[in-house]
Amino acid sequence: TTTLVSCADKVPFTGLPGTNYERTFIAIKPDGTERRLVGEIIGRFEKKGFKLVGIKILHPTPEQAAKHYDDLKSKPFFDGLVKYFSSGAVVCMVWEGKDVVKTGRKLIGETNPALSVPGSIRGDLCIEVGRNIIHGSDSTQSANDEITLWFGETEVTNYESPLEKFIYE
Ligand code: ADP
Repeated sequence: TTTLVSCADKVPFTGLPGTNYERTFIAIKPDGTERRLVGEIIGRFEKKGFKLVGIKILHPTPEQAAKHYDDLKSKPFFDGLVKYFSSGAVVCMVWEGKDVVKTGRKLIGETNPALSVPGSIRGDLCIEVGRNIIHGSDSTQSANDEITLWFGETEVTNYESPLEKFIYE
């Protein structure tokens, strides 16, 4: 039987030895929230089988947005990106599951919605790279950094779900 071992504090989530039960940071950007796509996006992660362990809505400051996108500060689109991300309400989430970092990126699609296949979130729901409605961590390292940036220690929860025996073998 599968026992998901997780932790609600800042210790990196490693799960069972030899598996990739892990956590990722997913954010619905202001355009996604404004366009009432929150339920649609959460539904896709839920239906896949991932487990929601943290969620809140906030309006980021430009400083928070700049910190979140710190690795892109040399890019020509950085100022516009910070403005975009801090332009309205963002839904911040932590999702948990096997390979959720990599698979979450697959559910999201490519950075440019025009290159994202139909069936993916960006492929189905948006058109331009500067309005691509969702963020997802690109590695377990950035997932840990981003979860720590956006969530306090007590804001990420931990629970066992009996459904997991139908999702994992
Ligand atoms: P991703 O969000 O897919 O991980 P990146 O980390 O490369 O992509 O970029 C972060 C965000 O910056 C993108 O989601 C997009 O909103 C924005 N962005 C990336 N490239 C461009 C670009 N060429 N022009 C405008 N905005 C961009």
